[in-house]
Order: sequence, then C-alpha cells, then structure tokens
Amino acid sequence: MFDVLVIGAGFAGSTAARRLAEGGKKVLIVEQRAHVGGNAYDEPDENGVLRHVYGPHIFHTDSTKAVEFLSRFTEWFPYEHKVLGYIEGKLVPIPFNLHSIEACFEPEKAAHLRKVLVDTYGMGTKVPILKLRESDDPAIKELAEFIFEHVFKYYTMKQWGYTVDQLDPAVTGRVPVSVSEDDRYFGNSFQQMPAEGFTQIFRKMLDHPNIEVQCGENAVPRLKPLPEEGKILWDGEEFTGPVIYTGILDELFGYCLGELPYRSLWFDVQSHAGDYQPVTTVNYPTPAEQHGYTRISEYKKLMKNPPAERTTIAVEYPFAYDRSAEKGNIPYYPVFTEESQEKYRGYKELADQIPNLYPLGRLAEYRYYDMDKITEHALEFAEELLK
Ligand code: FAD
Ligand code: UDP
Repeated sequence: MFDVLVIGAGFAGSTAARRLAEGGKKVLIVEQRAHVGGNAYDEPDENGVLRHVYGPHIFHTDSTKAVEFLSRFTEWFPYEHKVLGYIEGKLVPIPFNLHSIEACFEPEKAAHLRKVLVDTYGMGTKVPILKLRESDDPAIKELAEFIFEHVFKYYTMKQWGYTVDQLDPAVTGRVPVSVSEDDRYFGNSFQQMPAEGFTQIFRKMLDHPNIEVQCGENAVPRLKPLPEEGKILWDGEEFTGPVIYTGILDELFGYCLGELPYRSLWFDVQSHAGDYQPVTTVNYPTPAEQHGYTRISEYKKLMKNPPAERTTIAVEYPFAYDRSAEKGNIPYYPVFTEESQEKYRGYKELADQIPNLYPLGRLAEYRYYDMDKITEHALEFAEELLK
C-alpha cells in the first residue's frame, strides 16, 4: 500500500521520495541496480579508495536550497576541482585561462594575447568558445582557433561522436574560456565534497518510515503506460497516484517512436602505487588516434583522508549507447542534436497524455542536469506535488 511510485533511486528519485515522505506520503521506490545512488554511487575499493563507480562526481553549486537539503544527510569538506589538459605535450589548465595562454605561447605573444583578451572581455569574465570564435579581432580569432583545435574539437568528437557544430552550443558552453588566473574548473560559491561520499547521503535520505526501497529490479516490465486511455498500470492494475519515472522514456514506451540516442562510457579502472597524476582529472583533447580516451581521473584526490600507499584511476572511453553491447550499455548522457530533441518531444507528448506520470531527472527529461540542479528541481517538483 503506497501513495507514490518512484522509479530510480538517483538524485531525482531519492530527493523527490524523501520530500514526499516527509509530506506524509507512502512511497515505493524501485531501482534496477543492486544499490541506490544512481550515477553518483561510490564504494571503497581494495586500495581504500572511494571509487565513483559510474564516473567521477564533483559537487559544486550556488543553490542554497540544494545545500541545505543535502546537509541534513552529510558533513562536507572543501574541495576545489582542478583539471589539466594535455596540449602539445604539456599539461595546461582547463578551462583554458590566462595561465594556459602563458603555457602555450612564447612570452611576448602570450602577453599580447592576455592583454587583448582582458581589454576586450574584462578580467574575471567567461566566454564560451563559440562566442570567442565569432570575434573580428585577428588576435582573438587566432587564439580562439587555437583553443578550439586543441581543447574542444577532438575531445567533443570523442565524447559525443559529433562535431561541435552538430551539438547544442550549451554543451561546450559548460566549459567557457576563462579570462582570469583562476585555475579552478568551477566558479561556484559552494565547492565541497560529502565527507563520507555520495552513497552515504542516499542511505540516510532514503531511511524514512514512509519510504520502501526495492533494489535489483527493472520497473518497466511492471509498468504499462496507456497514453490513449490517459492511464498507467502497475502490476496489471491502474495506479492512480503519482508515478515519478527517472529512467529513459523510450524504454518505458516500448521504443514505439524508435530509440533515443544516449552517450555511454566505459571506464578502464587501474590500480597503481603512490600517486598517478598532479590533479584529480587530466583531459586528453587530442585526436582519437593519439589517445582513444577523453580523460583520466584519480579518485583518491576526491577524498578527505586519501590512502598514501596506492591509488585507483579510471580511464574514460566514450561509446554510443547500445543496450545489448558489452561496453557502452549504460545510458549516461542524452545526446543534444536537433534530431534527438525532436524525437524526445514525441515521447514527452505520450507521457503528457498520462496526467499522473511525471518524467523527472537527467534521463527522463533528456536534460544535462548536474547533481545540485536536479536536487533543487526534484525538491521544487515534490513541493508542488504536495500542494
Ligand atoms: P541517475 O543518477 O542516472 O539515476 C537514475 C536511476 O534510475 C539509476 O539508478 C537507474 O538505475 C534507475 N533506473 C533507470 N531506469 C530504471 C528502471 N526501468 N527501473 C528501475 N530503475 C531504473 N554532476 C555533478 O554535479 N558533478 C559532476 O562532477 C558530475 N559528473 C558526472 C560524470 C558522469 C560520467 C556522468 C554520467 C554524470 C555526471 N554528473 C555530475 C551528473 C549526475 O550524475 C546527475 O546530475 C545525476 O546523476 C542525475 O540524477 P538522476 O536521478 O536524474 O539520474
Ligand atoms: N569539453 C572539451 N574539452 C575539454 C573539456 C570539455 O571539448 O577539455 C567539451 C566537451 O564537449 C564536453 C563539454 O565540453 O562534453 C562539457 O564538459 P564537462 O567537463 O562539463 O563534461 P562532463 O563532466 O559533463 O562529462
């Protein structure tokens, strides 16, 4: 006996479940994996390293609402993420900034490029690469082409299987060129990591008398959406309470409009002695023939008390999502082309015909949510539902 059905125990499903449970609703949450946490799931490995099993996750936000909510379930420790990019044999700060210019150009030229950039955009600004490329100033244009070629062109091709021009500009806009000497990857006011990892947050968040969690079961075979009748069945019977669905919509609707494209990843996890690299993440924005992977992350650098003896790294290889493949069978990222968004709208229209079906989260909404953004959004969604 429950009032609300939630599919998926990632940030979207778990946050909504907790808020609804606190509002007096009995919630059943069904998760197909053996564990809660979605893609933020982490667990200790044999090196004593807290490994983020589905890729490195860094918490950064300006959302007081998300921080206040999550702080009920965790302590934090300050962590400012730094990324270096492998450019012409050197390791250079990413996002590309004034220090990166100095690392990549001769001193006289670097000084000139720095000055033009600061004079044009102002110290402390951030300029998306596609905007920088539109400049008429010859010095900025030359710099923009250099950055495009050495940071964005090949990384994006490897990551998405599409050129920068084929993708929504918001994708590369996530990592704008930084007119500053700030080497941090993010500029947010709150940059801290959960002291005991992300999984602990979920365990505490879902520990509520009104929440029942069932792990290890795909919910889709138990659901039957009937858009033309405006209803949805659960275990063969109509369920009239809210169904909060955080999985992929094409699967829920039996792929009736064709498969939605997702980008997947495969992590080559390696164990090494000591430390591996100078910062948590090193990007390889090089052609695929030179490095087949996009980035290497060293997990212990994300920990409050990292072990000294050994280290664990993950080498990240992007793949097209294929649910029957051995590598690349997890839908990590929606792919933002015009065609895919059009197809998604078709599925969303089907979902909208069922008034008590609520697609929520990165997969179901086909949106590039970070953890803070989906936490905030799921809280607001649940609060609205409770009204
Ligand atoms: P998910 O975490 O994907 O959770 C969905 C859950 O639903 C999963 O557990 C899935 O198993 C379950 N599910 C799906 N279908 C079914 C079904 N049919 N039946 C039962 N269960 C089902 N964000 C940041 O803020 N910082 C970062 O550094 C960062 N790094 C990232 C790195 C990578 C490689 C990726 C892929 C994402 C990263 N993110 C990062 C984004 C972050 O992962 C998302 O914001 C967050 O996971 C979204 O939560 P969600 O609940 O929408 O989705
Ligand atoms: N990007 C790039 N080179 C880099 C870093 C990022 O081309 O060195 C582009 C690439 O298209 C990537 C996007 O910017 O997919 C967003 O980068 P982000 O680090 O936010 O990716 P995520 O962590 O979400 O995978």
